[in-house]
Amino acid sequence: MIDFKQLAEQYGTPLYIYDLEHMTGQFSSLGSAFKGRKSLMAYAVKANSNLSVIKHFAQLGAGADCVSIGEVRRAMLGGIAKYKIIFSGVGKRDDEIREALERDILYINVESAAELERVDAIAQELGIKARISIRVNPNIDPKTHPYISTGLHDNKFGVDLDTAKRMYIRAKNSKNLDPVGVHFHIGSQLTELVPIREAAIIVADLVRSLQALDIELSFFDVGGGLGVEYDDEKTIEPYAYAQALLSTLTGLDMTIICEPGRFLTANAGYFLTKVLYEKQNGKKRFVVVDGAMNDLLRPSLYNAYHRIELLENDAEATTADIVGPVCESGDFLAKDYMLPMTKHNDLLVVNSAGAYGFGMGSNYNTRGRSAEVAVEKGEARLIRRRETFEDLIALEEEFVK
Ligand SMILES: *Cc1c(COP(=O)(O)O)cnc(C)c1O
Repeated sequence: MIDFKQLAEQYGTPLYIYDLEHMTGQFSSLGSAFKGRKSLMAYAVKANSNLSVIKHFAQLGAGADCVSIGEVRRAMLGGIAKYKIIFSGVGKRDDEIREALERDILYINVESAAELERVDAIAQELGIKARISIRVNPNIDPKTHPYISTGLHDNKFGVDLDTAKRMYIRAKNSKNLDPVGVHFHIGSQLTELVPIREAAIIVADLVRSLQALDIELSFFDVGGGLGVEYDDEKTIEPYAYAQALLSTLTGLDMTIICEPGRFLTANAGYFLTKVLYEKQNGKKRFVVVDGAMNDLLRPSLYNAYHRIELLENDAEATTADIVGPVCESGDFLAKDYMLPMTKHNDLLVVNSAGAYGFGMGSNYNTRGRSAEVAVEKGEARLIRRRETFEDLIALEEEFVK
């Protein structure tokens, strides 16, 4: 049990709290589902990029899926071996490609024909052969929120099958490129297995057709996207997930790479916030808290649901909007939520906040970002201190004339 009250007293609010043992459990359950097969669990760093969290996964043997050179640097700083790091993303700059090649990571995941040309040219300049995979967009509807769907042709990610095939041939014929993998990632918070399996079938067929052209790929990268329980959604069991994917690979001797983000960290995280005020606008009840959209953006961005608990209070519940102090009507943590009447300084625990929580935070309204705390073996320790006003102005102050 995490002593939220004590943590609030010690570290203040708003506060992010991560249960590292929960992360370990999630990592093991997914890893063991692929046991007996060549596989790599490459943690999607963007889900929670705190260095101590990365280090925790590094110690469990994880690789990393990164979407900026900053994340690649974080992954390496966190102790993830370079040969387990993948660099994905639709818009890599030249300097990012160059640094990734110089750092000799596992491969760059290429997302357009134009990008393949840049990787080719930069590898030529460096006099090396760049390992690449190509992100295929299999045009499968993952049946998730449109903002986190990525595997449809309407989405900006990846390339269609025909383009992918041409790119592989192009890569094979270049002395600067070494096509080693294929990648797809159809969306996030996936709760249905059928679209994942359909995508895998399409991509495995592509791999077979490339074999006929003498292009042998070693890595079958299925992306991330495993959904978690925020409310009462049904989720995919790791074992069923692994079986569905492995069954599409018959006859192919490839290493499976998974890029779980949310699955590993979402339900290991809590966002702790304090009640400032109750107010009533006509019939509408608002609970104003000290955490806001700049701390936890998911409700505002995706209308995402987070289960919220009021600590040490069992007064009668009525519906309320739980809102932060930021000057936007879109600033809320929950709408029409059943919550007991609160008092000043009551604590609210926002659950499932370990993925896409802190990392999506900002300094909007000149609010310093929350502190982050890790809990392991009953001990809590600070893993990022709260941002101060001085931190926020540090990059501007010297330029004021
Ligand atoms: C975001 C992302 C992931 C992780 O997604 P989750 O839904 O958090 O598992 C994996 N791979 C790529 C390429 C991504 O962009």
